Amino acid sequence: MNETYIRHLQDIVRIPSVSTENDASTDWTTFEKIHDFLREAYPLIHERMERTDIGHASLLYHWKAKDAKRLPVLLMAHQDVVPAGPLDQWTHDPFGADIAEGCLWGRGSNDCKSLLIAECEAVEDLLAEGFEPDFDIYLSFGHNEEVQASEEVEGSVLAAKHLEAAGVKLGCIFDEGGYVKRGADFGETVDTAMVSLGEKAPNDIILYKDGPGGHASKPGRGTVLGDVARAMAAVEAHPMPYRLTPLAKAQLQAMAPLQSGARRAVYADPEGHWDELCALAREDRDLDAILHTTFAVTKASGSPQTNVLPSHAECTMSVRILQGDTVESVIAYLESIIPEGVKVKATFGEDPHRESSAESDEYHLLEKVIRDVYGADTAVVPMVMTGATDSRNYSAVCENIFRFSGRIVTKDWGEAHQIDEKVPVDVIEPAVKFFKTFLKAYQDQ
Ligand SMILES: [Zn+2]
Repeated sequence: MNETYIRHLQDIVRIPSVSTENDASTDWTTFEKIHDFLREAYPLIHERMERTDIGHASLLYHWKAKDAKRLPVLLMAHQDVVPAGPLDQWTHDPFGADIAEGCLWGRGSNDCKSLLIAECEAVEDLLAEGFEPDFDIYLSFGHNEEVQASEEVEGSVLAAKHLEAAGVKLGCIFDEGGYVKRGADFGETVDTAMVSLGEKAPNDIILYKDGPGGHASKPGRGTVLGDVARAMAAVEAHPMPYRLTPLAKAQLQAMAPLQSGARRAVYADPEGHWDELCALAREDRDLDAILHTTFAVTKASGSPQTNVLPSHAECTMSVRILQGDTVESVIAYLESIIPEGVKVKATFGEDPHRESSAESDEYHLLEKVIRDVYGADTAVVPMVMTGATDSRNYSAVCENIFRFSGRIVTKDWGEAHQIDEKVPVDVIEPAVKFFKTFLKAYQDQ
């Protein structure tokens, strides 16, 4: 275990940098503390890289090459964390960064301060070694990734716009999302490097109906809440049809050798085994999620009082739009399957961004570096990510967005956003090695 790395991770986890929607009630002193910590911990980055403040508290650092011969590389992470949740449920203080049982415990240790630290250590090391890149290197640390912020204040949107305005095109980006999964800890024979090359677009869509209301003693033939309930039932009974995007196909084919039984042949040639694949997907949430746009009905409301007929009823769905669909096409689909009179409205969201290719030179270089760093028999799987990251906002300035953090996930990890979030004390080293190796290999290609 590297003492400096872990001390730095402790220092930053102890700063409770909780973000709030649209920055409305954020405690900015916590972000100032993070900026102070970074200045102290990484003197060379602050001496040699140009720092630009973005939005309320996001940071963009720029290492300018003497003589740039190739497109820049950007390393991303976010400074903010989600709230700790019920304190009495935590085994250790969520902002104490205690070290126990071989782990560092705390909110943000996994998501994603250990990534932020690894990126800083890697760049600080390269500066100390006298590395002279023939390409520019950027670090970009957002401050409101964890909340639904509007575009005017979202750090990652503003940073990408800043680069776009300066005419910067990036060769590739690294962000959270993928990692190396230690096979032995999960009953698998090999380690798997999961590189997310695309993400589904998160949207909130409402189904609603208005009616006259009235006294609950005279409901007639039913209420608008009943109609909305029938619309929900229709949505669950008629999921969007399965289809195969280029990235989902690449993912299944890369996963094929890791499968046993019938799955192996199905994954190796998904189009040739289409009916079998669909049958598997209906029983497997992970597989289901990468083959179509999904609808999850998560909230519903009707009358505020039992004896009053609702004059408005609605349900909210979390909709994850797959590449190939758009907000518009999904709304048209919903309108075609729900009962007449129930209306559809999108309240938050966006169309999906382009997937990065698993055939690019940059991706092939990444595969090679992963095998060099983690072992020649590491399986490299390009993936569709079902959650969202800040990196999607950089689509206009970069074709190769790799959601891969270089960290090795073991059974000891405590999950992001959960009680008892934690990471093993040696989490940083492999990620530092990965970023340094990649940046040097990018130079030599
Ligand atoms: Zn995160």
